Amino acid sequence: MQRITILGATGSIGASTLDVLARHPDRYRVHALSAHGRVEELADACHRFKPARAVVGTPDAAERLAALLEGLDIQVDHGEQALCEIASSSETDTVMAAIVGAAGLAPTLASARAGKKVLLANKEALVMSGQLFMDAVRENGATLLPIDSEHNAIFQSLPATYARDPQAAGVARILLTASGGPFLKRAVDTLEAVTPDEACKHPNWVMGRKISVDSATMMNKGLEVIEAHWLFGAPAELIEVVIHPQSVIHSMVSYTDGSVLAQLGNPDMRTPIAHALAFPERIASGVSQLDLTDMAALQFYKPDFERFPCLALAFDALRVGGTAPSLLNAANEVAVQAFLECEIGFRDIDRVIAEVIDAVPHGPASSIEAVLAQDARAREAAHGVIARLRG
Ligand code: NAD
Ligand code: MG
Repeated sequence: MQRITILGATGSIGASTLDVLARHPDRYRVHALSAHGRVEELADACHRFKPARAVVGTPDAAERLAALLEGLDIQVDHGEQALCEIASSSETDTVMAAIVGAAGLAPTLASARAGKKVLLANKEALVMSGQLFMDAVRENGATLLPIDSEHNAIFQSLPATYARDPQAAGVARILLTASGGPFLKRAVDTLEAVTPDEACKHPNWVMGRKISVDSATMMNKGLEVIEAHWLFGAPAELIEVVIHPQSVIHSMVSYTDGSVLAQLGNPDMRTPIAHALAFPERIASGVSQLDLTDMAALQFYKPDFERFPCLALAFDALRVGGTAPSLLNAANEVAVQAFLECEIGFRDIDRVIAEVIDAVPHGPASSIEAVLAQDARAREAAHGVIARLRG
């Protein structure tokens, strides 16, 4: 029996994870579930999966949840300390890190420090903490398995013995595929006016609103380039972004002998989730088998860095290193939130990020405290830029 904690159980990844777990009650037991505000949805999941613990964001939410769980033996808590506890508890083996954004850093890091099997969806946590996170994984014997579909595909396309050394494994390039999002073909001069709902309408995936906007700006791919750098020990020059609008090939690894290995499948996050849960075994995920003859064509293009300036900003931040990626991430989170609340336009997102990166000096990412301090400075600077743009 594998015991699981799900951080962010009410989100899109959280729901897909619960869907896979429900198919295998003989293999998995839920130890703890967390959510931020969606108390009713968390209560439903608690009634179905009967975890020992549930964690929400605020005392008020905890009170409402406790009322909804009356009669069940479930300990209800709130706040970051409680999230870190359920992520590191001796009563859990595996942690699904599926909180969105920097809010997931502390509990995800706690799970690595406790030597858990960490299923990483929360890419922002790794982008922020990079080397520090990878060190925590290594020093504490944690197992890190990527849930992001591209990184899961790359992981599956690398040799089982891969030790974060592309050269030693004969890896020539990591080919990170990208759908290009909803605005791949839209006239660039109309992007200024797109609405949050248009930006969240992804052609192939149904996801949370933050990552959906990131997909529309292609910052999502930028964050994934940085994520791939840390997960696979690959320098920026080895990571190539390939636009593939059908999202059937989830990413590829090309080798020095000319071989290219890929992982394919229908675009459904239950596949990488089931892969990581059962690794190295395979279990049913509920995803239908891919029918290649049913497909018109698979297309591939080079990305247009002028249409998608966020992708260029992310490559730059990776090359600069240190706390530059945490500045990028924090400015992006604030800008995306402001866009979703209709405070700024779509094209203002990359303007805010570029200004913050220019204005806030970056430094070495020597400790988590240094990273969090940079995150706070970047957020403050981003709010300043947004206030000016609105004024
Ligand atoms: P979502 O918005 O649907 O869900 C986010 C979850 O995090 C919810 O359970 C929410 O309650 C919780 N949460 C939000 N703010 C929080 C806070 N301040 N403190 C604690 N918990 C908080 O997001 P999602 O689409 O499921 O994405 C989750 C993560 O997985 C993101 O990092 C995203 O980039 C990554 N990811 C998602 C997909 C996808 O298909 N949805 C694919 C790859 C990677
Ligand atoms: Mg992805």
